[in-house]
Amino acid sequence: MAEKQTHAWYALRRTLPPWRFDELLKELTTQLPRYGVDEVIIKVDTEEFFHGQPILPWMKKYQTNLFRIKEAMDKIGVVFSINPWITMGHCDRGRDSRKHVPGLRTMIGHEGEECMTCACPIDPVWRKHVAKVWRLYAETNPRVIWVEDDIRTFNHRPVEIGCFCPLHMRAFSDRVGKKVKREELVNAIVKPGRPHPWRKIWLDLQGELMIDTVGFLARTVHEVDPDIRMGLMSSGPSRHCIEGRRWSEFADALADGQPLYSRPPMGNYSEGELRGFYYSHNSIKVTRSCLPDGVIEQTEVENVPFTKYANSVNFTFVEMAISFAYGCHGITMNLFDHCGTPMRDDPEVGAMLGAKKPFLDALAAQAQKPGAFRGVRLLHHERTSHVKRLDKGAMYHELAEGGFNMMQALESLGIPTTYEPSNVTAAVGQTLRAFTDDEIRELLSGGLLLDAPAAGVLIERGFGGEIGLQAAPPTVPIDSLGAWAAEEFHNPKFGGAPQKFMSTRMPGLGGNPPISLLKPLRGTDVVSRVVDPDTRPGYIAMTARENALGGRVVVVAWDIDAAFGKTFLNPIRLEQYQSVVRWLAGGEPAILVHGGTAGVYPLALRKDSGPETLLGLFNLSLDPWEFVEFELADPRRPARLQQLTQTGKWTTPKTLHAAKKGKTIKVKSETKTPYNQPLFIRVTWA
Ligand SMILES: [Zn+2]
Repeated sequence: MAEKQTHAWYALRRTLPPWRFDELLKELTTQLPRYGVDEVIIKVDTEEFFHGQPILPWMKKYQTNLFRIKEAMDKIGVVFSINPWITMGHCDRGRDSRKHVPGLRTMIGHEGEECMTCACPIDPVWRKHVAKVWRLYAETNPRVIWVEDDIRTFNHRPVEIGCFCPLHMRAFSDRVGKKVKREELVNAIVKPGRPHPWRKIWLDLQGELMIDTVGFLARTVHEVDPDIRMGLMSSGPSRHCIEGRRWSEFADALADGQPLYSRPPMGNYSEGELRGFYYSHNSIKVTRSCLPDGVIEQTEVENVPFTKYANSVNFTFVEMAISFAYGCHGITMNLFDHCGTPMRDDPEVGAMLGAKKPFLDALAAQAQKPGAFRGVRLLHHERTSHVKRLDKGAMYHELAEGGFNMMQALESLGIPTTYEPSNVTAAVGQTLRAFTDDEIRELLSGGLLLDAPAAGVLIERGFGGEIGLQAAPPTVPIDSLGAWAAEEFHNPKFGGAPQKFMSTRMPGLGGNPPISLLKPLRGTDVVSRVVDPDTRPGYIAMTARENALGGRVVVVAWDIDAAFGKTFLNPIRLEQYQSVVRWLAGGEPAILVHGGTAGVYPLALRKDSGPETLLGLFNLSLDPWEFVEFELADPRRPARLQQLTQTGKWTTPKTLHAAKKGKTIKVKSETKTPYNQPLFIRVTWA
């Protein structure tokens, strides 16, 4: 059968254990067409029933099953791919693979913990073994072989951060020209203050060795079948900083001349709250920003433990819609267990997949058009861990890049974010340390929103004048400064007024947030300030400054990574942040969104594709939005507005309007928007 043409590509990740193989294979052939599934990704030796490092005779026997699946899928026009459940290994779970892979060098963690199954990626014994196994996969003619996210040096339970085995220690010792012990190296890596020179040498070495490892995997596969594509599951760029991942070279080595597939994690394996989707959508955007153009993106839509006890069907649908709204080519669905339970035991999931396909297909067709996601730009740098300064007593994992909370703050306040160029950039924490002076000057010549630690970095680098501050000293807990009640957003130039008060109890009611005692230069505006219990003003909470480079800079006195939480958010904060972003953008913010008093927790987007713009709103609260208003800056005039119906048709309802004043366009939809019916509008420009 010919392959179907679809924009909302469904790839199902499924395990067919050998002891129930025939029944489950038959079920695939009957159910996949009903669910609208385009591709099946067979997971092998999975989860509860895995054997540790795959056992060669077991794998040889199971290969017969893979041939049978491939043949059956060809008959029904479903693409066949493979996802070995482990590469190096996620965890031991009591398995000791040294018994059937003699001489296996397992991983050793930074505190000396040792795995029994998870392998060291440079171990020649592991490489020889995995090559034999992966040749068996490659012989079955899959379209894609996915490499799991265990292709990393951290999180191989019981090892937290690796690999400090004798092979790795020897490689490091060779680099520095002296014999180094694990403890000595780890102490150097987490040394407080200015980084020890060994940290860079170690991260560079790890980065190179992992590029070598994925290159080895791809070559192994391509020696058998050069047409197979390789897929990469990853764990979020901020975490990969701690192993020195160099994304571009890593991607090239794994692709090995074929198109590369990428599976960004969506998290939310077990439904907590809808706000978890701020993480998911950001994961798509930031992972994309690290990879070369032309990568095929299929998100990871997964619930653990694979039943509605983990994620409701509605929650799963929203996750799927987010994947397509942010322009991905497909979703990989890990929604049914790996214990051999038939899919028909969970009939609502399959019914939803089939029913939502037309809506998602129409959405995906628009969102996949080439173009740019607009909003306030966020920064990521793959060398953040190289240059980050740690506090005394810091743990190894604190080398990871910060910044997540600024993303969530902005998105929650109706200010969409992007990793693409923009007239406004937000920078927090220490990421700016990885940027050159020229790159920083470029940022300072546009709109720049900084938190206190980021401002401190720029002052240290000599840019105090450009940000309007004499000093942004290290933060201190606000309660250490006495009795402070609230932040007053008082400055009318930025939309403030006396007695617009916001709690200082952040990130939660019991909080004691870190604040920097900012010292402004003359001519710098104070946007908001901290007041005492009798409303007398005290320390500065936010400043604004135009600079000689033609840029505008706003500095927040809080350390956003520590202060952001539910008590940070309120309607006055929304006014404050939307107002300063409007000012930073010189009156031309790419997109702001609000929904009146009912409209909290938006996840909104603007994607420009030539003469069209896609606007989207996910309501991440359980209360429906009564209306949605998008504020856009654009010199063009909207010629046509359309809204996507729940059945996947673009129509023009009477509840949809646009008005233009100067360069500001307000697009308003008076359609009620509950959390499980995201709103999408297509603007066609004149
Ligand atoms: Zn090792």
